[in-house]
Amino acid sequence: MKLRLGEIEEKPGRVTLKGEPEDLELEWKDGCFRSPVCLELKVFRRGDRFLAQGEITTSVDARCSRCLREFPLPVRTQFKLTIELTPKGNNGDNVEEDYILLSPQSEVLDLRERVRQLILLSLPVKPLCHPNCRGLCPICGKDLNEGECGCRREEYDPRWEKLKSLR
Ligand SMILES: [Zn+2]
Ligand SMILES: [Zn+2]
Repeated sequence: MKLRLGEIEEKPGRVTLKGEPEDLELEWKDGCFRSPVCLELKVFRRGDRFLAQGEITTSVDARCSRCLREFPLPVRTQFKLTIELTPKGNNGDNVEEDYILLSPQSEVLDLRERVRQLILLSLPVKPLCHPNCRGLCPICGKDLNEGECGCRREEYDPRWEKLKSLR
């Protein structure tokens, strides 16, 4: 995922960069990355400044935090970066900034780490296969999305236990 600054012109253009999840070292405790990562950018330059703006898309096989089923979770997140070539510039390692300074000789900028972090930031804390996922029965473990199991779960609701202890 290398942005070639020499190929960016004053006239706005489009650049598409692709990367494999292994190259980006994408790892997530709640899922597995198996699809390529695509970065589609609009780019242009004004003198020593370059602007790249667009979208990162991929998909992750996530595990639902309620029912534990695997489901495809689409990932779509914004990308925006301004690059300035200046003698004060360094190597562009500071991925927290969306305005970076590079040395005037810079020709290529590797976007892997930046893209990796933006993807990880966009992931949900508790992935859900569906907003109304009913989860697993805490007593028998049945997936309640597939139907009722007949357990009397009200008696086991931990919130009731708390209420009882208050009495
Ligand atoms: Zn679920
Ligand atoms: Zn049950």
